[in-house]
Amino acid sequence: NVRVRFCPSPTGNPHVGLVRTALFNWAFARHHGGTLVFRIEDTDAARDSEESYQQLLDAMRWLGLDWDEGPEVGGPHAPYRQSQRMDLYKDVAKKLLEAGHAYYCYCTTEELDERRDAARAAGRPSGYDGTCREVGEEQKAEYERQGREPIVRFRMPDEPITFTDLVRGEMTFTPENVPDYGIVRANGAPLYTLVNPVDDALMEITHVLRGEDLLSSTPRQIALYRALAEIGVGNGTTPDFGHLPYVMGEGNKKLSKRDPQSSLNLYRERGFLREGLLNYLSLLGWSLSADQDLFTMEEMVAAFDVKDVNANPARFDLKKCEAINADHIRRLDPKAFIEACTPWLRAPHANWAEEKFDQAAWEAIAPHAQTRLTVLSDITANVDFLFLDEPVEDEASWAKAMKEGSDALLRTARAKLAEADWNADALKAAVVAAGEEHGLKLGKAQAPVRVAVTGRTVGLPLFESLEILGRERTLARVDAALA
Ligand code: GLU
Repeated sequence: NVRVRFCPSPTGNPHVGLVRTALFNWAFARHHGGTLVFRIEDTDAARDSEESYQQLLDAMRWLGLDWDEGPEVGGPHAPYRQSQRMDLYKDVAKKLLEAGHAYYCYCTTEELDERRDAARAAGRPSGYDGTCREVGEEQKAEYERQGREPIVRFRMPDEPITFTDLVRGEMTFTPENVPDYGIVRANGAPLYTLVNPVDDALMEITHVLRGEDLLSSTPRQIALYRALAEIGVGNGTTPDFGHLPYVMGEGNKKLSKRDPQSSLNLYRERGFLREGLLNYLSLLGWSLSADQDLFTMEEMVAAFDVKDVNANPARFDLKKCEAINADHIRRLDPKAFIEACTPWLRAPHANWAEEKFDQAAWEAIAPHAQTRLTVLSDITANVDFLFLDEPVEDEASWAKAMKEGSDALLRTARAKLAEADWNADALKAAVVAAGEEHGLKLGKAQAPVRVAVTGRTVGLPLFESLEILGRERTLARVDAALA
């Protein structure tokens, strides 16, 4: 039975790297009919926040990445917030000490720094040198007299650690490269290095899929698992590990949490569809097939195999992300599209008064918008001409569209529009005819009409827009532009 986990720390806003990790774990669990455990790694009181915790839950819900065990849903290994499991970790640390898998380390930071620098200077490995591995009773008493407060350090085995990464294949780490490491702070606070594998063991996690940045902690965790198995914590098995490739941002640098492009909130605010965003993020290290970029989450779940994850760094490409989102918008059922845009047609996004909104006009224009939007938030500016008494005032648009001769063209167009049947084809014919009288092609002839009526130089197909706006309002706006 597959059991995977998504275990973020609640620090800061959720970012796309985190979402990619959550998505791959979710898809893996769903593909295998397994269990996704959602665990909150909030053992760092200085950095964790309740706000960030709420944002994580909210993000997962918005994305539709449901979990089988975790906050709010509970489960057999509750609680799923590590801050509520501290006693348990302290107990495990005690057992590790008793069994000799861990020891008290009294080295001070200054001593550690000094020895590290000396080792570096001599070209030796600079990790912890094992000084406190064997401390006699006398020495211990002396340290305690000096008031030193020890940390707890895990004793790494003296043999290399080898494992088969699900993405990268066989990996070997030699002891010089994986020194003994701290698992409990001097103040008694258990560290990530301890609590993460302890919970994975207790929660019977079978597969760990996480970012490549955590690869170097895997040999330590494997050694700790083996020790936990010996002291009877967990079910005695070590999970398989798969490390997902780095995501590169601008300038081929790793996409950082601080990069504005990486904030999930930004995508929500811009009106990405969850399907579009998840589809794109799944391409960061995986693909459905060489010739199909566009797919649903059901298709992803059906096909997902961690062995197909590519170890090479993936490049985050916002343009591609937007293009995929636009494709998903186009694929929506028309009713669903109308529904999905609703938040952007209300305050605070709408620049018109609530009572000016006209559902019938919106439903009439919606199909023309659906094929053209990249993100849903763009809808507001595209339809505001329908709900504002007067079009938005935008000097730059006016300057661009209103050239010499525009007035004369507008006058002719006004006369022809006034006589036309009020449907898109006839309105187009009217503007074409007006253009011909002034020696202008359609593109040039419709620009001043568009700005007069919508206030903008770009927008939805003009003649359909005029049809929906209606004769009276259209002509009044052309008159106002000529006044
Ligand atoms: N809480 C850790 C992090 O957010 C989880 C690492 C892991 O998946 O093991 O980096």
